Amino acid sequence: MRKTILTGDRPTGQLHIGHLFGSLLNRVKFQEEYETYIMIADVQALTDNFNNPQKVRDNVLEVAMDNLAVGIDPQKATIFIQSLIPEIAELTVFYSNLVTISKLQRNPTVKQEIEQKKELFKDSVTFGFLGYPVSQAADITAFDADLVPVGEDQLPMIEQTKDIVRKFNKIYGQTLKEPEALVGGFGRVKGLDGNSKMGKSLNNAIYLADSPEIIENKIRKALTDPDKIKLDDKGNPDVCTVFYYHQMFSGGNLKNIKNECQSGERGCIQCKRELSENIIRFLEPIQKKRKYYQDHPELVDEILKRGTEKAREKSRQVLQRVKKGMKLDYFS
Ligand code: ATP
Ligand code: MG
Repeated sequence: MRKTILTGDRPTGQLHIGHLFGSLLNRVKFQEEYETYIMIADVQALTDNFNNPQKVRDNVLEVAMDNLAVGIDPQKATIFIQSLIPEIAELTVFYSNLVTISKLQRNPTVKQEIEQKKELFKDSVTFGFLGYPVSQAADITAFDADLVPVGEDQLPMIEQTKDIVRKFNKIYGQTLKEPEALVGGFGRVKGLDGNSKMGKSLNNAIYLADSPEIIENKIRKALTDPDKIKLDDKGNPDVCTVFYYHQMFSGGNLKNIKNECQSGERGCIQCKRELSENIIRFLEPIQKKRKYYQDHPELVDEILKRGTEKAREKSRQVLQRVKKGMKLDYFS
C-alpha cells in the first residue's frame, strides 16, 4: 500500500518563496511516490479572517494556482477545499475532548501568532483560533496521513496531532494513524524585513507571482549588513538578508559571493542585482504555468471539484472508523 501525505495552505494570500522551500518543493517531489492530498484550508483561514470572508474566498483560487504552477500534477495529487469536507469538522468536535485549554495556550506557534494578531483578538483570543491545532489534527488524521510536509512553525501542530492520536487510540482502541512531519530544505525562510518568518499575513514576502519589477524593488530594499556602507567595506554575510536568499537561489556561485563580500570586493547594489536576476529566472517557468491557469480558471475549478469529491470519499471511511471506536455507530 502506498503511503499518504496530507499538507496544505491557508488561503490568506498568494504563496511565497517561504512556501516553496519550506513545503512546496517537497510536495512536488513526493507526489510521485505517495498518495498526496493538498488541502486549501479555508476554515482555518477564517479563524483569523472571520471578518473578511471575501479575502479567503478569493485566495482559494490563488493558492490552488500556486500549487499547480510549481508542479503539483492533478492526475497524481488530490487538491481539495477544507470546508467541503464536513467529516473534518466532526472529527474536530470529537478531538476537542482530548485537549486541554492550557495545552493549547502553551503551543509556541499559537502563542506567537496571538501576539502578532493583538489588534484582531484585543484582550481575548477566540475559541476557534485557540483551537486550530485541534482542527489540524482532524485534517491530518481524516486522510490517514503518514507524512506531513510543513515548515518549522508547524512542528508543534504535528506534536499536538500525535498527542491526540495516542490519546484517542488509548481510550477508543487502535483507530488513528500517527503522522510524521517532514520539514523542507529551508524550514523557516526569513522575511524581507529580517523577521524570523516570511509569512503572507506579515507583509514581508516575495510571492511566486511577483513580477520582475516588484522582485527588483523588494530586493533593492532588503536588509544588508548595516556596517557595510561603501562598496569596499568588508561585509558579514551572516547578518545579510540578501546573502541569506542567495543561499536558495545562487547555489553554484555561493562561495564566490561569500568571499567577495567578506573581502570587500563586492558591493551590495551589484549583489542585490544578481539575486534579483536569479530569483526572476527561477520563477519564470512557474509564472508561465501560473499564467496558463489564470487564463483558464474553469480548469482550476474542475480540479478542485474532482479533488474534493475524492477527498470526501477517503475521509468518510476514516470518520466511520472513528465513530465505531467511540460507540457512535448507531443503526449500522
Ligand atoms: P499566514 O501568515 O496566513 O499564516 P503563511 O505564510 O504562514 O500564511 P500558511 O498557509 O500558514 O502560510 O502555511 C502553509 C505551509 O507553508 C505550512 O506548512 C508552513 O509551515 C509553510 N511555511 C509558511 N511560511 C514559511 C516560511 N517562511 N518558511 C518555511 N515554510 C513556511
Ligand atoms: Mg501560517
